[in-house]
Amino acid sequence: MASDGRPGPITDLDSEPFWAALRRGAVVVQVCDECGRHRFGRIGACPYCGAPGGSDVEISGTGTIYSFVRAHRALTDTMAGDVPYAVATVDLDGGARMFGRIEPPGAARIGARVSPLFVDHGDWTELRFRAGDATDDDA
Ligand SMILES: [Zn+2]
Repeated sequence: MASDGRPGPITDLDSEPFWAALRRGAVVVQVCDECGRHRFGRIGACPYCGAPGGSDVEISGTGTIYSFVRAHRALTDTMAGDVPYAVATVDLDGGARMFGRIEPPGAARIGARVSPLFVDHGDWTELRFRAGDATDDDA
């Protein structure tokens, strides 16, 4: 399938499992075989206990917004129709933290619960997060 013109990831041996999982609608992080902590992205040893290696594990992709920014100026012409959009740091349930766009952008709030949203760009899949459900505390 052709790309929609958006710049996609440049994968390598460490990031390929993450991107391949997104293509099938799954979120994969790395788990330490010794201490059990999750981490993202994949690296050769645990940053918490130092154990070498690790295993890929599929997670729910749900989490909580730690912080976010709202962009009002597009980085590229391809994204001109997207502004304003929100990019958040998400603390994933079970551990690990990653960045992703929040949909809808106006729902981005610190502490908001999010779930994964898989956006197909033709030849790659982007992980965004959907914010706002009945359990959110927007106070
Ligand atoms: Zn560890």
